[in-house]
Amino acid sequence: MTPLEDARNIVLARCSVLATVEVFFRDALGKILATDVVARENVPHFANTAVDGYAVRSVDVAQAPVELSVIGELAAGARPAQSVEPGTAIRIMTGAPIPSGCDAIVMVEDTQRVGDHAVRINAAVSQGASIRDAGSDVSKGTVVFCHGTLVTPAVLGTLASINARTVSVYRTARVGVLSTGDELVEDGSDLEIGQIRESNRVMLLRLVEQAGLDAVDLGNVVDDESLLEARLRQAVGELSCDAIVSSGGVSMGDYDVVKAVLSKIADMSWMQIAMKPAKPFAFGTLRNATGVDVPIFGLPGNPVSSLVSFELLARPALRIMSGFGDTAWRPRVRAVLDEEIVRKPDGKMHFDRGFARFSDDGHVHVTRTGPQGSHQLAATALANALIEVPDGSGLQAGDPVTVTFLGP
Ligand code: AMP
Ligand code: MG
Repeated sequence: MTPLEDARNIVLARCSVLATVEVFFRDALGKILATDVVARENVPHFANTAVDGYAVRSVDVAQAPVELSVIGELAAGARPAQSVEPGTAIRIMTGAPIPSGCDAIVMVEDTQRVGDHAVRINAAVSQGASIRDAGSDVSKGTVVFCHGTLVTPAVLGTLASINARTVSVYRTARVGVLSTGDELVEDGSDLEIGQIRESNRVMLLRLVEQAGLDAVDLGNVVDDESLLEARLRQAVGELSCDAIVSSGGVSMGDYDVVKAVLSKIADMSWMQIAMKPAKPFAFGTLRNATGVDVPIFGLPGNPVSSLVSFELLARPALRIMSGFGDTAWRPRVRAVLDEEIVRKPDGKMHFDRGFARFSDDGHVHVTRTGPQGSHQLAATALANALIEVPDGSGLQAGDPVTVTFLGP
């Protein structure tokens, strides 16, 4: 059996980061910046007020309370036409430019209007109070975001604020997902004996999307070698997939056509990984017409195995291809196990499915979500974490364990 770590290394060694592309900044959401972004503008562009209030000279209000005459008003977007002269103030709204002569803003809460042309200032303010300097958010010429940053909505907003019209990002992997098996039904019709409903592809397509990747539905392929070969060639050809994820047909069964076809047309490693679930796993590459070796992940067919195999082997590699660095990986933390887990020594790491939560004692606590068979997807569906149960005879309640979070 291959240790999981070794299997990962085999996979990662053959999954290269995709090319970079220049995109309109609004189209960069979810992608990874391929270069540093340098600000070509100051944000804010000009000194402005952080509060609604009165633009003053700080020396004039040092002996507050004092009365100043109000000589004008400035709203956000207005251009100052007057200076603040000794003994005067200008009514000013948040975001408006600082008029000349003014070196501080008194917030409106600390003032009292006296008729139409005067204001009583009740609190002294120091120089610079409530003034946001030009460039105090982003300073022109500095690196705002480094290469490798994930473009989140807040990053998009910042890019808009510095007028970055385009950015260079890594191309997001287009991942083709196919299921295999004569027994699979997906049209809602009644099941004949021996048939089951297709569930892996439905799940894997959405897992691919939730991983921040582009999913391409390659459909279900019945257990027929020539049909499967044609679909795989189409995936790396006209459908321009950067990677393929298949489910089923990689174990020891006689109708494991994925194994038969990929052995013939691709350069594959067939592995038995020292873990449960998801022991059988195939990985390799299929060369496309332009000579690019497209990674293929052959996941096992049992639904829980498919999910665990995707999470531990395919997801990180596909994200690394799309430019994710350390963030390619799910968070892995120490937790307290809240129940006993009994298992038998078998040379494998078991990844039990559980629900982990942050507790008031400052620790993450975890319990299993139900039956752990590799066909029992319903219990796994309630899990948000994989619990590492090392080889041996199990764990006691209260034992420390390592968990990998699968989601919120
Ligand atoms: P296989 O790896 O093809 O031998 O499949 C192992 C088990 O997983 C069998 O019980 C299959 O019926 C089941 N299975 C395979 N593919 C799927 C799928 N796409 N959805 C649900 N179950 C599947
Ligand atoms: Mg099968």
